[in-house]
Amino acid sequence: MNIVNPTKADIEADVAIVGAGLVGGTLACALAGHGVRTAVIDRLDPAATVKTSFDGRASAISASSQTLLAAIGLWPHLAPSTGPIREIRVSDGDSPFFLHYDHAELGPTPLGFMAENRHYRAAVAGAMGTVRDRLTVVSGRTVQGMTNGPDDISLSLDDGRQVRARLAVAAEGRDSKLRELAGIGVTGWSYAQTAIVATVGHERSHDGIAHERFLPAGPFAILPLPDEDGVHRSSLVWTERADAAQGYLALDDARFLAEIGERVGGFLGPLRLIGPRFSHPLGLQFAARYSKGRLVLAGDAAHGIHPIAGQGLNLGLRDVAALTEIITDARDLGLDLAHPEGLSRYERWRRADNLVMAGVTDVLNRLFSNDIAPIRLARDLGLAAVNRIAPLKRTFMRHAMGTVGDLPRLMRAPK
Ligand SMILES: Cc1cc2nc3c(=O)[nH]c(=O)nc-3n(C[C@H](O)[C@H](O)[C@H](O)COP(=O)(O)OP(=O)(O)OC[C@H]3O[C@@H](n4cnc5c(N)ncnc54)[C@H](O)[C@@H]3O)c2cc1C
Repeated sequence: MNIVNPTKADIEADVAIVGAGLVGGTLACALAGHGVRTAVIDRLDPAATVKTSFDGRASAISASSQTLLAAIGLWPHLAPSTGPIREIRVSDGDSPFFLHYDHAELGPTPLGFMAENRHYRAAVAGAMGTVRDRLTVVSGRTVQGMTNGPDDISLSLDDGRQVRARLAVAAEGRDSKLRELAGIGVTGWSYAQTAIVATVGHERSHDGIAHERFLPAGPFAILPLPDEDGVHRSSLVWTERADAAQGYLALDDARFLAEIGERVGGFLGPLRLIGPRFSHPLGLQFAARYSKGRLVLAGDAAHGIHPIAGQGLNLGLRDVAALTEIITDARDLGLDLAHPEGLSRYERWRRADNLVMAGVTDVLNRLFSNDIAPIRLARDLGLAAVNRIAPLKRTFMRHAMGTVGDLPRLMRAPK
């Protein structure tokens, strides 16, 4: 679908979002769906982002994120290409201790859903098509300048156009240009790890079970994808030391697959590679503040975390739900969409939650990505203990499903 704004005229909107990735694209659908005049700008052609060669990742979408996507009308576009996560099995290398989450212990709702990022991008484009009268989509353009004024915020595009709005959202991921233009700093560090991502086909069904196996170089995740063309498939996220990852990535297909086979084990039957392999350097990154004047940050532009718990996008979707609530409440009360109380509420609300998850994932990665015997023993006892203490286990499951804490309205399950 080509929904690039065809005119060269300047653009007026209530909210301008820069970055139409998973977070910015979802926010655009949510705001336009709530009647907010929205403009969204991305440097990429959307047709390129739905190809298998663009992003081989699949995302674990938590139950509360699915509630949001259903509430804003995006889920019907995505659901046919998702698969449920019914169980999660966590193990530590070859240790006999493990942790097993089964959704049936809480009820009928799956723990979450797996969606390939390319399908998510296509679903965003589909949902955007339904709110076109309130949404301007600008593709293949970047923002070069920003004037953050008392009455509006103005963004200059690289084709000379201006986008004027009451509020601008930086959703361009970790290397946010708007964040830089606003002079908002980031803190963080590299994990000296690389995530190798690949999709495999296999003979036996995964039965909707996600496996996370902790190995000394980092977690190895085998995530259940829906079958395609009659082939059972899983998405692999193989975390390696950054210096070793390049060697694995350079292997020919047969040797690369043999390395994968050693880590997966035999429970899925013979494996084969589907599509290209990808790599992502891993690091933690946190913005010093979430808003400045009429600019607000969302998604990875505000917080980039380790994928060990599959929560980066889910945090970004919580930002989306919180921002949509704050912006539409301001609109309904006749307030400025960038009124300072609203933006500081957003910052207090989302920053605390995001910081806790960044901390938890950081500690988990440090605790599990090593082979030091006393630490190994302590963590194995921890896994076994959580597995046996049912109330504690249910609490952890609810956290994985994203159904605890101060949830925005759009993420609360309908009664
Ligand atoms: C290996 C791996 C596995 C993961 N698995 C999961 C998971 O299972 N579950 C989960 O919740 N999270 C997961 N994550 C995290 C998740 O992928 C990210 O949190 C999420 O993609 C962030 O989305 P975003 O829209 O904020 O940023 P991005 O996905 O980075 O999108 C940014 C968009 O902005 C555009 N852009 C950038 N700069 C500009 C510019 N200057 N002008 C215009 N446009 C611009 C880009 O083209 C892009 O479309 C994983 C991450 C990794 C690395």
